[in-house]
Amino acid sequence: MKIFGLIGFPVKHSYSAIMHNAAFQALGIDARYELFEIQPQKLEVELKNKLKQGVSGLNVTIPYKEKVIQFLDHIDEEADLIGAVNTVKIDAGGESTGFNTDGRGFITHLKEAVGFDPKGKAAAVLGAGGAAKALTAILAKSKAKTISIFDIDSQKTKELIERLKIICPQCLLKEAKDANDLLSGEPDLLINATPIGMSKSDHLVFDPTLLQKKMVVYDLVYNPAQTPLLIEAKARGCAGVFNGLGMLLYQGVLAFRIWLEADPPIDVMEEALREVLTKT
Ligand code: NAP
Repeated sequence: MKIFGLIGFPVKHSYSAIMHNAAFQALGIDARYELFEIQPQKLEVELKNKLKQGVSGLNVTIPYKEKVIQFLDHIDEEADLIGAVNTVKIDAGGESTGFNTDGRGFITHLKEAVGFDPKGKAAAVLGAGGAAKALTAILAKSKAKTISIFDIDSQKTKELIERLKIICPQCLLKEAKDANDLLSGEPDLLINATPIGMSKSDHLVFDPTLLQKKMVVYDLVYNPAQTPLLIEAKARGCAGVFNGLGMLLYQGVLAFRIWLEADPPIDVMEEALREVLTKT
């Protein structure tokens, strides 16, 4: 039996196992997807253990998308450009290669399901961590007119902006002074790429009156399905309000293709996610 899994801290919130196990079962593949919670100081040791144990593929989540790179044997071009890895393929000899499917997963959902093309549009991104790196890279490649970013760690934002300049020299890239400043330019697309909203005690980090009706609001958090940001955006009549479930589905579809070099049953994966949502 092939073993796949998610490494991160925390991982209990994740629906990745539900989605991938449904796909394995539908295709009759002898494989299982597990959640591996790894304490921050144990990443290197635990990752090496997983490789030794013959794990075939991993997803990587918060807070390891950047940290994991140093422990991998190879990194593909796209993940290298982004500077973050969310998918690892391990070959029969135990060699690991890092990929990133977050950006393409995000843009596939944004364009095909949401119907929003970022070309020529103003985007605002809260967070400059692993997920933000991937989705701002794809927004830059998609020729967004402006990309504004705010992270509590200003150095991270500055480094991300330097990366994005290489991908899209003509994009207008801005470091927002704070979360309110991020919304002051009245972006067409507002994305939360921080964990804010995952915990019940989380609340909005900007003035809600800054949310405008024309905005599409996309929260990468999907568990809970309704975050304070999404509740507020809906109440204020924003043009589109989406949680991270669509992105989760499409980044998972792309990861499945990398691991198994086969097309996954997207409808089965989507149905498994819908089912778990109705139960939560
Ligand atoms: P990450 O690498 O830890 O990045 C999060 C960033 O947000 C960090 O730089 C963090 O700074 C910053 N931050 C935290 N609180 C903030 C605040 N109040 N204001 C501004 N910035 C703040 O995490 P990640 O891997 O990018 O994941 C981010 C979120 O996206 C998680 O909830 C994850 O589950 C979700 N996600 C969803 C999908 C999907 O498919 N739907 C895919 C990827 C990620 P510090 O490090 O200093 O705290």
